[in-house]
Amino acid sequence: MKRRGVARIEWLRLLPNVGFFPQTVQTFAISAVSLPSWYVGTREGVRATPDYARPMAVSATGTDPAPPGPPLGEARGAPWTSPPPSRRPGPAWWAAPLTDLPGVGNTTAERARVLGIDSVGALLEHLPARYEAFDEGARPVSSLSAGEEATVRVVLDSIAVRPTRRRSLRIVSARVHDGSGRMTATWFNQAHLARTLQPGDELLLRGRVGGEGRRELSVKTHEVIGGRGSEGLHTQGLVPVYPATETMPVRRLRELVDLARPLARAAPERLPAAIRVRLGLPGAGDSLVAVHFPRSRPEARLGRRRMVVEELLVMQLGLEAVRRSQGASRAAPPLRATGERSEPLLEALPFRLTAPQRRAAREIGRDLARPVPMRRLLQGEVGSGKTLVAVLAICQAAEAGAQAAVLVPTETLAEQHLRTLDALLGPVGLAPVLLTGRVTGKERERRLMALRTGTSAVAVGTQALLSEGVDFDRLGLVVVDEQHRFGVEQRQALAERAAEGGASAHLLYMTATPIPRTLALTAYGDLTVSTIRTRPPGRSPVETGWVREQDREEAYERVRAELRAGRQAYVICPLVEEGAAAEARAATTEAERLREGPFAAFEVGLVHGAQPSEEKRAAMLAFAEGRTDLLVATTVVEVGIDVPNATTILIEDADRFGLAQLHQLRGRVGRGEHPGLCILFGEPATEDGARRLEALTQTTDGFRLAELDLEIRGEGSVLGLRQAGPTDLRFARLGRDRRELAEARYAARRIAAADPRLELPEHRLLRDAVLHRFDAFPRLLDA
Ligand code: ADP
Ligand code: MG
Repeated sequence: MKRRGVARIEWLRLLPNVGFFPQTVQTFAISAVSLPSWYVGTREGVRATPDYARPMAVSATGTDPAPPGPPLGEARGAPWTSPPPSRRPGPAWWAAPLTDLPGVGNTTAERARVLGIDSVGALLEHLPARYEAFDEGARPVSSLSAGEEATVRVVLDSIAVRPTRRRSLRIVSARVHDGSGRMTATWFNQAHLARTLQPGDELLLRGRVGGEGRRELSVKTHEVIGGRGSEGLHTQGLVPVYPATETMPVRRLRELVDLARPLARAAPERLPAAIRVRLGLPGAGDSLVAVHFPRSRPEARLGRRRMVVEELLVMQLGLEAVRRSQGASRAAPPLRATGERSEPLLEALPFRLTAPQRRAAREIGRDLARPVPMRRLLQGEVGSGKTLVAVLAICQAAEAGAQAAVLVPTETLAEQHLRTLDALLGPVGLAPVLLTGRVTGKERERRLMALRTGTSAVAVGTQALLSEGVDFDRLGLVVVDEQHRFGVEQRQALAERAAEGGASAHLLYMTATPIPRTLALTAYGDLTVSTIRTRPPGRSPVETGWVREQDREEAYERVRAELRAGRQAYVICPLVEEGAAAEARAATTEAERLREGPFAAFEVGLVHGAQPSEEKRAAMLAFAEGRTDLLVATTVVEVGIDVPNATTILIEDADRFGLAQLHQLRGRVGRGEHPGLCILFGEPATEDGARRLEALTQTTDGFRLAELDLEIRGEGSVLGLRQAGPTDLRFARLGRDRRELAEARYAARRIAAADPRLELPEHRLLRDAVLHRFDAFPRLLDA
């Protein structure tokens, strides 16, 4: 404890400009406990049981006292054999180039850049993917027994490359000894070591003990004592394993991080003290040290936890601000329902709305009637009846004299939607117009005019619908179907485009890609969510089977049986990495093969992304009208295609698809009165691939699958939802860090309520971080 006091006084003496950086001072006061050894003049940290959980006392001035407990992180030796850096390790160090580290040149800096490391700060934020758990100390050579893994500390006697019969294999063999005995150490394919290691070098060797009789160590990792980096960096305790490249191997990264270690203290302390105290989180610098040089796994976890909370907090604050800027600050036309269109529409339906449909419709109806823009996500399984809910919203807009636009990702889907909407809205006097790239010339002019003058109340089209040159008389509602293809920025752009003449349109996003609650809270933190969890009654179940190659013929026979019974089937061709052209070729070949072989008795159609749109449409239409029995397709059929008579879907190389995509594809069948069948072919190369296919055979519940997917991938980007931009996560894994997400969300709400523009001094660095992350929204925090 005494030592810490000394450290702190020395440190403060070196900080003349304390008064100017209140936030920074806080950082330093906390981080003082992890001062590098060249400040404190000792190589040993204080070892005692950590006690982070105890809340720190916070004085009225906001300056933190040092937290109780010892410094985080193993107090390894100081690497700075040269004099300490001439600049104080203040905030400027965080952005300093790697070449500012002693002995680091341009080549190293270039190689690190490939990993996204372009500054000392980025280096320190390059976190270990995992740790190798090596034991603490070195063992005497004489105590080793065959088969165990151990670390020894030895002196090198001789070293040479040993010839082997296989030319590709080169073994380096060394004689080494310690006070207790001698042994042989071998490395595979590291011939350079015979030149770089010198007799007399003192080494730490980590490896597996082999050889009956004579003692031999097959070396996993080694280091030269007194060489680059702290002692034990590669061989003792919890050794970090970083994402690395061939030219920037993990050993070099360890050395670099070790060099940068005294500068961890330059890490900006973005978390306000109050939050740190409440959540029991260590300071920014301490966390970095704990993550890179942990003495124990709990310590590493605690360090990482802090970084995760900070990252999620920044993201949540940004999303909160996006929501604010999209919502309350702008006005929207209140669209009041009269029921004059929706009531006859509902009466004409051959079925009743399901309870979740009614609830979603109610929520949306309420939003529409308010004078602030709605930003709502309607999620529900394929076939859960989202379209009908959207149609009711469109009716409400029309009843209030406003126009509605329906946006879909593809032209094919736009045309299909037009048919559906026409059938529903036509009878109540609303004729939707289609506007896609295919509509050109006079006809396009006519439709544009109808929208400009307000004679058309409903438009359906691709995103081009909201491009320049398309004007609405009074756009009140924008419906975006299959919205998982759009990121936060695109949503913002859309919202801005939908804001005409000062008033924003209401926005309703729909997705059939179920989003686990955790993800909805992050990627969609700017949206309110309505969920339709159950499908309308009377839906047919879909049986799913994962079929091995040797049973292919049998599977084809089942498909043929369905076709003979008058049903139809899809065959989905795999993704081809080389691109659409190669994919098209593959699909064409497959169609030929099936047409001539197993399905010679049937009409086989083909649809793929590289076809001219006329051809594509013709193929889809032929299938929809039952003129073809079997449709060979790429994933162009993934979204929204609705052919109730298609009962079977056969997916080739299914392991190459994401779980969400597979679920979407499976949603193409079981849409009518007949039970569906989904056949998966695939020999997964990875365990994750196998788990995905297994999951698919086990459940058809999209929400359960979404959760499973989150577990399998453990990733921030789930379900092929490309979380582009600001919601990309570097530290957090939503599958794992649920608690942190909840904490960050709560904290973000509190902060945003008290200080929405993040202007208080203790929020200054958070503000910078939010603006940096959401740089597509430069004025985000001005509102
Ligand atoms: P989604 O867009 O959610 O995938 P759709 O809106 O296309 O689903 O609905 C799929 C089918 O279910 C449509 O043919 C629709 O007419 C029908 N449907 C919708 N709601 C109901 C309901 N409450 N009861 C019975 N069938 C319904
Ligand atoms: Mg739909």
